[in-house]
Amino acid sequence: MATILDGKALAEKVKQEVRKEAEGLSRKPGLAVIIVGNNPASRVYVNSKRKDSEECGFLSEEYALPEETTQETLIALIEKLNARQDIDGILCQLPLPKGIDEEAVLMAISPEKDVDGFHPMNMGALLVGKEGFLPCTPYGIMEILQEYSIDPKGKRCVVIGRSNIVGKPMALLLLQQHGTVTVCHSRTQNLAEVCRTADILVAAVGKVNMVTADMVKPGAVVIDVAMNRNEAGKLCGDVDYTAVQEIASAITPVPGGVGPMTRAMLMKNTLLAAQKRQG
Ligand code: NAP
Repeated sequence: MATILDGKALAEKVKQEVRKEAEGLSRKPGLAVIIVGNNPASRVYVNSKRKDSEECGFLSEEYALPEETTQETLIALIEKLNARQDIDGILCQLPLPKGIDEEAVLMAISPEKDVDGFHPMNMGALLVGKEGFLPCTPYGIMEILQEYSIDPKGKRCVVIGRSNIVGKPMALLLLQQHGTVTVCHSRTQNLAEVCRTADILVAAVGKVNMVTADMVKPGAVVIDVAMNRNEAGKLCGDVDYTAVQEIASAITPVPGGVGPMTRAMLMKNTLLAAQKRQG
């Protein structure tokens, strides 16, 4: 039976540490969160981010803009926040309504305040192994691995998914930690066979039960990033959890695994931004 990698408990620990460090600063870290439109899932995420910010003792500001907001208005707001001394982190909740170029918006956020780690400057820093903000989800996964003394060094790591926010940075972080990394995607042939080679398997696709027990090597560590809803409307990941936990050595549950750590690392990145900006 697999060890359950408890992201929820670790996230609480990270947030407590962040709060303690934030208390030692001359000014509270400030996080501005922008939401455009009425996407219900985005609203839930933004509410959680506000709650986390308050728990960590941050200055928390929310900008809820209507669906019909233009790209120019949104970028003008970001520029104002870029110039504010008391704001250390700026986050624009994705997805944005049609007609707004997400890339242009992400590019408008100052790289020093890009606590989501999505600006090409921070992505590039990760690629070449320089200091920058790490995208929160893969950053959180690396913290889970470290907490449970799972060292990617020399291990075969397979990441399913190649998005800019999860799959690609995940692969780079595992590579940085000396894993031997394979990235799979929708055109990968013999996916099950590739997955069976993994000592560490990360699933970041968004399809219920796509990782079945026959795709997992006995004793593998399985990290389930996805947040799906099954037919009953229950939150679940990509992994057939019941069957896979019988053969994996360790597994993240959904909920209570990667999700809470993503939120905690946003707080950590905001603290780091504040520390850097306060010298
Ligand atoms: P995404 O941008 O939609 O990327 C999905 C990836 O899966 C793509 O690279 C796609 O390949 C690949 N894929 C699709 N079908 C596949 C198949 N049959 N076999 C192999 N690969 C396949 O999604 P994302 O933003 O990375 O998010 C992935 C999941 O993680 C979603 O469920 C999302 O909700 C969740 N998520 C969770 C957190 C968290 O905090 N827990 C944070 C972010 C995202 P192609 O590139 O070839 O299309």
